[in-house]
Amino acid sequence: MDYSLSEKEQKLWERAKAFTLEHITPHAHELEKKNEFPKEVVQKAFEAGLMNLHIPTEAGGPGLSLLSETFVSEATGYGCAGLATTIMCNNLAFTPLVVGATTEQLKKYVEPLITGKEPKFGAFCLTERGAGSDAGAVATRAVRDGDEYIINGVKCYTTNGPQASLFTVFASTQPELKTKGLSCFMVPKSKATKVGHIENKMGQKNSIQSEIIFEDARIPKDCLVGKEGDGFRIAMTTLDKTRAGIAAIATGVAQRAVDEAAKFANIRHQFGQSIGRFQGISFMLADMGARAAAARQLTRYAAWMADQGIRNSKDSAYAKFLASDAAMQNATDAVQIMGGYGYLEEYPVEKLMRDAKLLQIYEGTNQIQRLVAGSNILRESANLDTGFHVKYSGRDAPVM
Ligand SMILES: Cc1cc2nc3c(=O)[nH]c(=O)nc-3n(C[C@H](O)[C@H](O)[C@H](O)COP(=O)(O)OP(=O)(O)OC[C@H]3O[C@@H](n4cnc5c(N)ncnc54)[C@H](O)[C@@H]3O)c2cc1C
Repeated sequence: MDYSLSEKEQKLWERAKAFTLEHITPHAHELEKKNEFPKEVVQKAFEAGLMNLHIPTEAGGPGLSLLSETFVSEATGYGCAGLATTIMCNNLAFTPLVVGATTEQLKKYVEPLITGKEPKFGAFCLTERGAGSDAGAVATRAVRDGDEYIINGVKCYTTNGPQASLFTVFASTQPELKTKGLSCFMVPKSKATKVGHIENKMGQKNSIQSEIIFEDARIPKDCLVGKEGDGFRIAMTTLDKTRAGIAAIATGVAQRAVDEAAKFANIRHQFGQSIGRFQGISFMLADMGARAAAARQLTRYAAWMADQGIRNSKDSAYAKFLASDAAMQNATDAVQIMGGYGYLEEYPVEKLMRDAKLLQIYEGTNQIQRLVAGSNILRESANLDTGFHVKYSGRDAPVM
């Protein structure tokens, strides 16, 4: 395992941290009160070269590694998880295309979106009201009609949906086959793609989600990504990669909670001393620091595996649930350490707590991550020799 960064990646990491300090952290609270798409910050992030990092050079992108993407997600997530989600959402929208589309398709449909003067957005459309964790229940249909497909259905929770120029849509071409009948399509914005209900959220208000309604949306047959029936595989391969990005945002939140709580613990005095000198507080800070560090290591390992072409389903699931649980626990502990001040909007940590909760839900809930990790562990253990062999321990007892 080698995490060393190239000079280019090191500069990107520094640039992302400097960008967060100047453009994200000082404005995040004010921006979330507006509850609208943070256009200006996103424009600046685009100009700073912090978006679309994974698009291959053949399609006009920088072709950076997933590991370097996690550095940008951690840095921006430290400032505001909502803004980080908005800025990094093209990763989720375009990764299925990087995974399954041809270079010609990427050049035709993605390159024009990432090479202009202004940021353009894609949106990942998998979830429906009746199909959340159970992707096989997708009801959106794609029907072949000559040289076209016709798409009908309603997606929900679509991040950057109202802003998107291109939708990556998972629709069923053979509903009776469930997940095996799912196919992946690129659907350009048109009169047949409509923005529905805008979701109102508890946190991460600096990212916007909506329903997207497809009403007889006709697309050329070259908008099919891979083959019919490849959709589920493409979606799962995508999530194995992008979950490291969510884990990186979570690591940023977990670290921010440590830093804000520690700063406060140094300056807040009660009983004639700083509260940080009470062992009850410093032990909490130690646990919080360890959680953030563990989240960072698992996240980088999962990303590094993907970059090496090593299957990382189990490790990206570990990273996603451990890092987002760390973010939630650290944010809650930071509120506790700051006492009444922790609960006030004027201070930084109540927002961390609201923002962190979503990290345990989107891109697959943490129960689903545990399901993925658990089933991988069971599969791997089937042929595992631990060196301990029970030959006979009673009638009908298992022989290991
Ligand atoms: C702010 C936000 C942004 C999002 N962005 C996008 C996006 O851009 N594109 C997109 O397609 N989707 C997006 N989503 C959808 C998100 O991925 C889903 O909300 C998530 O996968 C869970 O689906 P659900 O909400 O329908 O919950 P459900 O699947 O109904 O789950 C409800 C509860 O049951 C549990 N559960 C379900 N199945 C099992 C099981 N087998 N074992 C144990 N527990 C189980 C879940 O863990 C959860 O606790 C977003 C969601 C939110 C809230």
